[in-house]
Amino acid sequence: MKTNLVVGCGLSGITMAHRLADELNEEVVIIDTKSHIGGTCYDYKDENGITVHKYGPHIFRTNSTEIWDFLSQFTEWYPFMHHVLGVIDGIEVPIPFNINSMHKVFPKQLAEKLETKLIQQFGYNKKVPILELRKTDDEDLQFLAEYIYQKVFLGYTIKQWNFTPEQLDPSVTGSVPVYISRDDRYFQEKYQGIPLNGYTKMFENMLKHPNIKVRLNTAYTDVKDIKSYNRIFYTGAIEEFFNYKYGKLPYRSLDIRIKTFNTEKFQNAPVVNYPENYDFTRIAEYKYFLNEKSDKTVLSFEYPQDYELGKNDRIYPILNPQNQAIYNRYLQEAEHMPNVFFLGRLGAYRYYDMNRTIAAVFELFNKIKGKVNG
Ligand SMILES: Cc1cc2nc3c(=O)[nH]c(=O)nc-3n(C[C@H](O)[C@H](O)[C@H](O)COP(=O)(O)OP(=O)(O)OC[C@H]3O[C@@H](n4cnc5c(N)ncnc54)[C@H](O)[C@@H]3O)c2cc1C
Repeated sequence: MKTNLVVGCGLSGITMAHRLADELNEEVVIIDTKSHIGGTCYDYKDENGITVHKYGPHIFRTNSTEIWDFLSQFTEWYPFMHHVLGVIDGIEVPIPFNINSMHKVFPKQLAEKLETKLIQQFGYNKKVPILELRKTDDEDLQFLAEYIYQKVFLGYTIKQWNFTPEQLDPSVTGSVPVYISRDDRYFQEKYQGIPLNGYTKMFENMLKHPNIKVRLNTAYTDVKDIKSYNRIFYTGAIEEFFNYKYGKLPYRSLDIRIKTFNTEKFQNAPVVNYPENYDFTRIAEYKYFLNEKSDKTVLSFEYPQDYELGKNDRIYPILNPQNQAIYNRYLQEAEHMPNVFFLGRLGAYRYYDMNRTIAAVFELFNKIKGKVNG
């Protein structure tokens, strides 16, 4: 029987491990340096019965029935619809900034005028990247664009990235739109939810297979019998695999400080963004996600910082042509190793949400399956 080594017990590694074991009936050893499974999606129930996402709040959403059905084999879902507020000049407004947000911060007449102009120029239910809105010729919309840019976008972006929006790749800035709608939900995908018993439980169910062996507290460099594996799936950082021979790939990281407070409720939404003031970018309140009851509440405060090897985790790749060129050199090197596959957010040097992470694993798995059945 073929044996696979999967490096990394996060969403991508676990998804690949399950499909290899279950559909190809192959053996899989999956390892992780961490002492727990789940990677960045790991969660745990604390002493107050509140499920905490250790590495920051995770909400699952997808438009893919295939992906939703796949995960639904391993979990039931709490039908969660995400809402985010942003504190601007001390007022809480829906994020992404939308028509309701406009009515909260501007006098009625001005808000109505801007609403009409926005709909005339871009149409209703459209998402317009803030950098595109800034290019408008209309004086009133220019005022609006400048307001949103300064109050909502600039402070958050500088805190998050330590760059101005113009210095960032459009794939990053484009994901922060102005939403010409009254829909306050943060996501509009067809399927949205949180695993009813947590992500970790869902992952445990995915790994529960006679062909899968899990080894935690184990780094790739600890594996002595590499040659005995037919294939290696590496979900760690590609540059680390190649011992940084073409240089380091830069990332931003996060210092996530989790605190329990002796109060039933702290804030008016699961996540509240703070584009202005404070060193943290946002606060998440975990009892919202599964509607858990307690007289205490658990919050996480996110402090962005630069990634430093050995000090913190690689979180957000800093995408620009120079870093992409370094990444491409690693990819070219990888092409010479037909039995080693790089996957996941670190293998791809991309910010991948969970949906995209799974889609990429499925794509790779289908190629491998095609060859096996070939
Ligand atoms: C703050 C934050 C919030 C997010 N919120 C959402 C959200 O709301 N919705 C959403 O869809 N997505 C969200 N995401 C994205 C989501 O976390 C990723 O899509 C997902 O974690 C990617 O899984 P992965 O397996 O590729 O990477 P990871 O989860 O990082 O797993 C990689 C694993 O590999 C291990 N590893 C690395 N190198 C080695 C090595 N050499 N040897 C052994 N083990 C190794 C690591 O320890 C890690 O456990 C969020 C991400 C962050 C950072």
